[in-house]
Amino acid sequence: MKASEADWYIGVDIGGTKTAVSIADNKCQIIDSSFLDTCGQPDFTVTAGRIFDAIDILLKKHQIKPGSFAIGISCPGPLDTVSGSIVFVATTGWKNIPIVQIFAERYKVPVFLENDCACAALAEAHKGAGQGAKVVFYITVSTGVGSGICVNGDIFSGETGNAGEFGHICVDPQGLKCQCGARGCLQMYSSGISIAERCRELAGQEKSLLSGIEHIDARDVEAAVRQNDPVAVRVWNDAMEKLGTGASIVYQLFNPGVIIFGGGVSNAWDLMEAGIYSAVKEHVYEMDYPFIVERHILRQAKLGKLTGVTGAILLAQKKL
Ligand SMILES: [Zn+2]
Repeated sequence: MKASEADWYIGVDIGGTKTAVSIADNKCQIIDSSFLDTCGQPDFTVTAGRIFDAIDILLKKHQIKPGSFAIGISCPGPLDTVSGSIVFVATTGWKNIPIVQIFAERYKVPVFLENDCACAALAEAHKGAGQGAKVVFYITVSTGVGSGICVNGDIFSGETGNAGEFGHICVDPQGLKCQCGARGCLQMYSSGISIAERCRELAGQEKSLLSGIEHIDARDVEAAVRQNDPVAVRVWNDAMEKLGTGASIVYQLFNPGVIIFGGGVSNAWDLMEAGIYSAVKEHVYEMDYPFIVERHILRQAKLGKLTGVTGAILLAQKKL
């Protein structure tokens, strides 16, 4: 085995509710995966124990020798990727978890950590909707809105590792105040939570298919949009217009080969595409727009629930 290569790669994708663990060969082809509940309690050892069990089962099943693999971990942030720690995860309450050290001590192999959106960008760039592009901008539209950037096949993480805060770019200077302290952040309009919350408010005041639903989520809104509910359509269209405005800023700044939309809300890409393209048309150079359409620069992610683990595996291979 070369110093810069492992026989196998283990990818771990830790999500707010679900965690995926996959094993891949030295060509980064996934050969087996398992999915478990993250068990979001503040004591990280519970989740770590579950992930260790899942890894151990895969190692045994495929007769993989100790020390013959490297581990990549994709995790929501903020993270400190230099020290290999989780700084804070809001959904679970984890704080200052030295996750790389925890995994390295357990398996005595190299372990690498990266932000979930950056991992997704890496995965889509190499094996998904961004193949062939030099500059890949990946946007997740899920509970929140985030992004990852991949340039020439590598993650671009900025001066201090915080590049890609797409959810917090300003799309309305006089707009809603965000939890981050800024005003008019994209996430306040286009995240799954915001879409649901804005519909909940309006459905209390106007007649809507959503009026009777107690806990409206983004899927309820999507279903109502499909039935042409005026409240749902209005909120949805505004969310897509803001996403498109954000995407146009990305386009002007980065000249990307692709801007990819992933995450739970983006499963409804058929309802998103027209609104996003039309907002982009309003905000980019007029002469650029036909090129954007022709090259299909704004597109849906391809890898689905294996995006995070694929990125984690590629991360381990690249960093080793
Ligand atoms: Zn914000």
